[in-house]
Amino acid sequence: MALPSAAAALARRVLAPVLALALAAGCGGGTLAEVSAPSAGGGGAERAAELAGDLPPGEGEHPDAGAAEEPPAVAEAGPDLVRPDWLGTRLLPLRPDGLGEIQPTPPELEVRRLPTVDHLPPPPSDEFVATVEPVPDAVLARSTWGPACPVDVDDLRYVTVAFWGFDERPHTGELLVHARVAGGIVEVFRRLHEARFPIEEMRITTPAELDAHPTGDGNNTGSFTCRQSRAGSSAWSEHAYGLAVDLNPFQNPYVRGDIVLPELASAYVNRDWRRPGMIHAGDVVVQAFAAIGWKWGGYWGSAKDYMHFSHNGR
Ligand SMILES: [Zn+2]
Repeated sequence: MALPSAAAALARRVLAPVLALALAAGCGGGTLAEVSAPSAGGGGAERAAELAGDLPPGEGEHPDAGAAEEPPAVAEAGPDLVRPDWLGTRLLPLRPDGLGEIQPTPPELEVRRLPTVDHLPPPPSDEFVATVEPVPDAVLARSTWGPACPVDVDDLRYVTVAFWGFDERPHTGELLVHARVAGGIVEVFRRLHEARFPIEEMRITTPAELDAHPTGDGNNTGSFTCRQSRAGSSAWSEHAYGLAVDLNPFQNPYVRGDIVLPELASAYVNRDWRRPGMIHAGDVVVQAFAAIGWKWGGYWGSAKDYMHFSHNGR
């Protein structure tokens, strides 16, 4: 994300998107209900396996299939990961500048590998799939877009892509991006899918999330968010044009001075301790974005925005 310089009065608003990200992972509230597809609610992995034909046939249904001799495919589909039940629920005390207090990373999140909650039906197989279309009215209605935003709705695209979760299962993510980069963004996620780079969650940020009290533990990957980039400035963030992407914010926090965002992600300030989902100089993620001319915030100087990629390096 593009960064605020000082101006405490506006910091809360400027940093709200990151705070929103911080809320996203554990957010099981009403804002997701309208997003929810029939498979939402925890049965996604089973459904994915079912759709992929991986579920062993039930005993007695196929008595001649000899399937009992084969190990259950589901057990091989991925590790049995568990989301802490408190995720997204612990409100952080607020700093004078409106950010949440920067607190130590909870032990459960020091090596964060959480299963993905499906809000869209998972892809039918392990193959990469993607869609690009004009923004449906229902999607626009739950996004942060409004008439004051610096991009026309006609210049945005609704993109869905297959991605691999930390649960080693395929999921479907959604993004709003600028029309002129939509094809390139699909190619980026095609490469990440091919590399099986794990992503926890990929969902459009809602207005409620922008205004929500920070919990510092979110991990949503996203692009378009209608917001300004710097306190005391009228400049829009590249996210407000759909020309920037934040990837796995918790594993790849924003770091400037003593500020770490999301607020509970301090364990990931140490970039030499390599854990799944992190982005490093020259890795497959940086290369995938570089292939479409996008630059990484991990190369910034005074601040590091490890989650952030943009078309112009801002
Ligand atoms: Zn960003």
